[in-house]
Amino acid sequence: MKLTGPFKQLLTMDNLPEKGPLSDDQLEIIPDAGILHREGKIIATGNFNQMKEQYATTTIEWLEGDYVGLPGIIDTHTHICWAGSRANDYALRQSGKSYLEIADMGGGIWDTVLKTREATLEELAELTEQRAGKLLKLGVTTIEVKSGYGLSVEFELKILEAIAFANKRCMADLIPTCLAGHILPKDFVGNETDYLKLIIKKLLPEIKRLKLADRVDIFVEKSAFSIPAAKSYLSKAKEMGFDIVLHGDQFSTGTATLAIEMNAVSIDHLEAADVNEISILAKGNVIPVVLPGASLGLGEPFAPARKLLDAGTSLVIASDWNPGSAPMGNLLVEAAVLGAREKLTMAEVWAGLTCRAANAIRKTDRGILKHDYLADIIAFKTNDYKEILYRQGQLTAGMIWKNGEIVT
Ligand SMILES: [Zn+2]
Repeated sequence: MKLTGPFKQLLTMDNLPEKGPLSDDQLEIIPDAGILHREGKIIATGNFNQMKEQYATTTIEWLEGDYVGLPGIIDTHTHICWAGSRANDYALRQSGKSYLEIADMGGGIWDTVLKTREATLEELAELTEQRAGKLLKLGVTTIEVKSGYGLSVEFELKILEAIAFANKRCMADLIPTCLAGHILPKDFVGNETDYLKLIIKKLLPEIKRLKLADRVDIFVEKSAFSIPAAKSYLSKAKEMGFDIVLHGDQFSTGTATLAIEMNAVSIDHLEAADVNEISILAKGNVIPVVLPGASLGLGEPFAPARKLLDAGTSLVIASDWNPGSAPMGNLLVEAAVLGAREKLTMAEVWAGLTCRAANAIRKTDRGILKHDYLADIIAFKTNDYKEILYRQGQLTAGMIWKNGEIVT
């Protein structure tokens, strides 16, 4: 058993509603706090001095100086298992070329698919581990990772296996998602329905058998998959027991209804979501996940985060770290910038990175600092939590614990 502290302020993120706007005075802040933990789990939080007396025989992990503690950040949407670079695409976009023009010139997702297919399983595991390590150093203790740069039964399995290897080797928890429905592969002979049927028949049963993922994602967009094709694919995946998530409303609308019908866990992107899409989402329980890193990477508007919350939905903020549209991979910077632009309270931003994010990966053991939750903790060297988002990602977590162990 170990008592860690004292924290000048501890933001537990406990007792917050799952949906709707949040004000900063709803945050539970324990001053001069301690966290008692054992074998990776929190036993109690409370006043450090009182706990020190109450648990007199406990080992104390002293924090020197002022620290503000929070639950470890949860990034619910990344594509960090890839090979190659798309710096050339980025330069072309800034020279005025469109997404489709770049794809026609040999760039885009297909370019990453070819490079990722060429990489060995070991190389992909190594690249994923390096990127997960970078995120962990920034305080991200749980990272969702999608496949989607293989786009065949063989190569999608290779990517999911690489994610599984990386998960064993890094301290952060990696949550795998099958995104075989990223785009229709250029070398596939047949239409989108034929391709998705193949995935259902040959790939998803293998993923189940090898326990490589519990989640299935699809990119619904004009340049990717149509709503009818996605609907039939997701229905089958759901029947097989997968949780459903989707990339929707990035450039065009209409995916909110599909997400509700499919009882999806989350709908991610929503940059194009209008009043109608927002009101559809407000009536259901699908979690909107917004991806400011993709807006920054593409030079496009942010998703309407403020309007979503005001309509009464939940709101999760994720990085979408990928080589094409979101190359930054720094969720704290992205969330702080989104918060400034969209006028999100500090409570709304932090909830979107912690307790509400846990719901978007269906985990009930993290995202809050309380009894029986994981001792995934981040601490910033400051005496006021407001400093963190104010510094827009330049004040980084000085100390990080994953399952109660200090990350070095
Ligand atoms: Zn994505």
